[in-house]
Amino acid sequence: MMGVFKQQNLRETETRQPMCLHHLQEQNLRVFCWCNRCSHNAELEVDLLIERLGALYPVPELGIHLRCSHCNTQDVSTRPAWPSHGGQIARHG
Ligand SMILES: [Zn+2]
Repeated sequence: MMGVFKQQNLRETETRQPMCLHHLQEQNLRVFCWCNRCSHNAELEVDLLIERLGALYPVPELGIHLRCSHCNTQDVSTRPAWPSHGGQIARHG
């Protein structure tokens, strides 16, 4: 069941080093992005983003460059497209 993820992980990514594109590439993950206005969501290929923005680009900031293909707003958020949620996401080192 896909819920609407908003800002529950922001505090973590602020205090820790944000996840970068190369981290996702290493783990074979894609980028999950969703629109804050209409809740449209999609997954993006990391390779394409690295070509555009570089491997060290932080994942939480990808939304700046994205636009919703449904309602055309730029209010888009991103996070790693973990295959499942509720499992091993909350690792605190
Ligand atoms: Zn939208």
